[in-house]
Amino acid sequence: MFQNNYLLIPTSGNNHLKSKETESSEYKGFEQGPIRPPSEADSLLIRVTRNCPWNRCAFCPVYKRSKFSLRPVEHVIKDIDTVHGYVVTLLRLAGEAEKAGRMEIDTAEIRIKPDERQAFNAAYHWLSYGMKSIFIQDANSLIIKPSDLIQILKHLKQCFQWIERITSYARSHTVARISDRELSEIRAAGLNRIHIGLESGSDKVLEMVKKGVSKETQIKAGRKAKQAGFVLSEYVMPGLGGLKLSTDHALQTADALNQINPDFIRLRTLAIPERIALYDDYKAGRFEKCTDVIMAKEILLFIENLKGIESIIKSDHILNLFEDVEGTLPRDKEKIMNVLKTFLDMPAENQIIYQIGRRLGIFSRLSDMKDNRKLENAEKACMSLGITPDNVDKVVDELMQRFV
Ligand code: SF4
Repeated sequence: MFQNNYLLIPTSGNNHLKSKETESSEYKGFEQGPIRPPSEADSLLIRVTRNCPWNRCAFCPVYKRSKFSLRPVEHVIKDIDTVHGYVVTLLRLAGEAEKAGRMEIDTAEIRIKPDERQAFNAAYHWLSYGMKSIFIQDANSLIIKPSDLIQILKHLKQCFQWIERITSYARSHTVARISDRELSEIRAAGLNRIHIGLESGSDKVLEMVKKGVSKETQIKAGRKAKQAGFVLSEYVMPGLGGLKLSTDHALQTADALNQINPDFIRLRTLAIPERIALYDDYKAGRFEKCTDVIMAKEILLFIENLKGIESIIKSDHILNLFEDVEGTLPRDKEKIMNVLKTFLDMPAENQIIYQIGRRLGIFSRLSDMKDNRKLENAEKACMSLGITPDNVDKVVDELMQRFV
């Protein structure tokens, strides 16, 4: 899981940060952080902290030049109140438009303060998408004091009584150190979903990429989150072990998830842009990246070893080779494995056409190769790019840079 400027929080040992460590400058207006999970595209984003308190993962490009800071609770409350004000106004205008038989609402009469433009845009976007969910930013919102988080959650629920879901990212290291009672209180206050960046269950991989957490802690955190009643998403990063640790990555990750039984397992394939720490190892040959074919084998081994769980597998990231590696376990396990086996059984030239077609956005799933128009476009692209078995992996790497 990925993720401006005051106190640098000293590493992983912190659980709940003391209020004196909170950035104490004056309120500078409504804020939103840079990222959210793909599944939170329609959500209202409420920023509770800035950036990532760990910020050391070797594969992570987000927040790298940005220090972590907490936002004072009263600033977050002000953000919520500002958005709430615009939501109330927009709802009134929507009601008037409906009575007048118009589809569009006329926002011309709203006086938007210059420093509230972002809050207005957030309210407008949220209203357009049904106002069902809220995402708490940034990378690890559960690091703030549980009582502060509970106050923020209660205020959200009070302002927006109709919301169905509030979600946050969290680090396993943090969740594992919160008491069961506090986790249950956070859940009861309205946070219903947690997204954890497991990335790998292999201690070798976790250490190599400086994830700052062990397999054991990942399992403990996942189980605690489930026990407290959260809907739990665990992010897995195919390819993170490189060639050397690919098998260990697949097997240990499956084993960790078998012990957690998360609600969702979300795949997000490793990419290596220049701005991540792993890039230096990659360039120097110390980290050998998996090709798409080896990655497909790794994912197959991973899925094959998921046992005794009812998780929903999602492959909703543009970096993933197959969007159709999706389904509910155990029912869809064979179906998912068949997608991977079909790809691996294809002649190399067809694999190449799929790889390039996928990376150019022509294909999203293996079955798209049955669409003659898409197939023809992918074949033409391979011809014009001069793709050969020798250069396909290099070209795929270059194409993937567009998405990171
Ligand atoms: S915990 Fe790691 S992956 Fe998540 S935002 Fe921080 S540095 Fe990036």
